[in-house]
Amino acid sequence: MSRLLFITFLCLSFNASAKWYSHSFEIMGTQAKVEFEWSQLNDLSSETKAKELIQQVVSEMSRVDRLMSPFKTNSELSMINRQDSKQAIKISKELFKLLEKANHFSVITHGAFDISFSSVGYLYEYRKNIRPTDEQIQSLKSAINYKNIKLNKENHTVYFSDPRIKIDLGGIAKGHAVDMCIELLQSAGVKNAYVSAGGDSRLIGKKNDRLWYIGVRHPRDENKLLVNLPLEEVSLSTSGDYERFFIEDGVRYHHIIDPNTGESAKYMQSATVLADDSTTADALSTSLFVLGVKKGMELINSLPGVSAIVVDRHGKMFVSKDLSESN
Ligand code: AMP
Ligand code: MG
Repeated sequence: MSRLLFITFLCLSFNASAKWYSHSFEIMGTQAKVEFEWSQLNDLSSETKAKELIQQVVSEMSRVDRLMSPFKTNSELSMINRQDSKQAIKISKELFKLLEKANHFSVITHGAFDISFSSVGYLYEYRKNIRPTDEQIQSLKSAINYKNIKLNKENHTVYFSDPRIKIDLGGIAKGHAVDMCIELLQSAGVKNAYVSAGGDSRLIGKKNDRLWYIGVRHPRDENKLLVNLPLEEVSLSTSGDYERFFIEDGVRYHHIIDPNTGESAKYMQSATVLADDSTTADALSTSLFVLGVKKGMELINSLPGVSAIVVDRHGKMFVSKDLSESN
């Protein structure tokens, strides 16, 4: 009897000392959120430390934004885009590594993922219904080619062998930021957490001893969920044609560009990818959106530990092989 009482007391005191903290904020032109369980067992000055951690997550996201934003003229990315000679530019280790990862995804997607999409993509201004003319697309389309982004591993330099190239990390930077924030929380001792930036999220551990439930929105009805997934230790990224777009003469001009045409990719309404880390999920969801169902699912099915749920341009849903087999 006394032993039973003792065990009950331990559980109660553990629950009383653990508390969930949550904070939503705007970053990189989108909504971000951090949510985590903080236990007094982590630290004695618990409440203050938890609030400090939230601030660190916010600062980390804005640090990545300051480094990689194409809209901030003093970002490292903008500095690379301004290079007008064939001079190699030395860049930070972090940006260099992300450029290497972007190159990896370009290789495995045969160019569907290509950060040099921006050579044409920078001419779109979705909020103002502005798009490049057919002539501009025709003359700049050939500048979209990741093979002309030359990376030198020894010197950590980059140069463009085609001076018309512009790059943009919008398809991978949010995933990278989410991974950095999860790392930060983990090194502070957090075991259960959720971090999201726009359509990219990653979760570790559990939510109150249960699986996390993450909803994927319906691409044509923001009040409806396409699926609500029970998840654990995973990253999830959704790319959709409803994020940044305008419609002109019945045509939807949106922010995911098919490198083959220089125009908005036409085969999907949304593409969701599940992977171990957020950088991978982010790059692959953008890629899948460009590739379409057949080529895209072939790629996803060939990658261990990666799953996908897509909605094609007709509104039909498809899931990767592993998900259809688990049903
Ligand atoms: P996401 O929501 O992750 O799919 O990211 C969309 C963003 O990816 C766009 O706003 C662009 O910044 C970038 N992007 C568009 N097309 C491509 C592409 N073909 N390859 C890589 N990044 C792209
Ligand atoms: Mg992406």
